[in-house]
Amino acid sequence: MREQYEFRLLPHAVAVLFGGQPAAYPVATVVRGEVGDKTYLQIEELHRGLQERGEDVAFGGWLIRRIYSLEERAKATTFWLDLPIQNASLEEGGTSYDDGGLCAECGIGAVPTEPLIARTSCFKGQDVVCLLSGEILISEKTLNVLRDAGCSGFDVLPILESARESKVQGRSMKYWLLLVHSVVQIDKESTRFGADPFDLERRGSCTCNVGEIAGYAPLSALRISGGFPYDIALSDVYVGTRRGLLRPYRLLFVSKRVLHLMEGAKLRGICAEPVL
Ligand SMILES: [Zn+2]
Repeated sequence: MREQYEFRLLPHAVAVLFGGQPAAYPVATVVRGEVGDKTYLQIEELHRGLQERGEDVAFGGWLIRRIYSLEERAKATTFWLDLPIQNASLEEGGTSYDDGGLCAECGIGAVPTEPLIARTSCFKGQDVVCLLSGEILISEKTLNVLRDAGCSGFDVLPILESARESKVQGRSMKYWLLLVHSVVQIDKESTRFGADPFDLERRGSCTCNVGEIAGYAPLSALRISGGFPYDIALSDVYVGTRRGLLRPYRLLFVSKRVLHLMEGAKLRGICAEPVL
């Protein structure tokens, strides 16, 4: 597995790394390379220094892309679906939440109640998506793929496009809320979570009597413990944060069989990472 990075460096960081005055650089300068290369290590050193002095950060955005070999993909039996997060939420659509189990600190434990309403027009036809509010929605096509294959361990609830639309029993829907019953344990010894690639403090993590947020985002390849005897399952821990419309969410895992069915049906929005 290889890891490639992309940082959107801020002007003061570009000036330190490449010389010149910050004013000479644009708001963000994109630099790319392989994790661990000379520039990556320079950015790490600069970022850590700035953070230790409480001054600023070196970059406004980052992306680590993991590239697996064909052999690694063939060997894997479980895959993490890194879902595209859509700029839509159930709350914004007008859905109510049952806050009975909600943790006021970390924002997990609230349950959306029917009717479930979401603006799905922004999904651009993607078949499996994650909302800002953390729920996973699947298209009618995805539901048919899962049902035709006899997949178990999930239920669905219809997503309405607006509060005026009424739910008709048995009718096909554009999207469904995916409710997954099985939970897999993330191996937190070997999986890193946090705010950015250089975060050693697992920022954003929180444990309470409702559950656990492992950090703002996964920072490494994901590892699970205890095997994967499922078609489909969610992580035991959440990632993300509660802010505005944002809610923490769980990570979605599928078996090799389910991934192959999804790929065979040419479902859109599927980005699968092997769990090694
Ligand atoms: Zn909590």
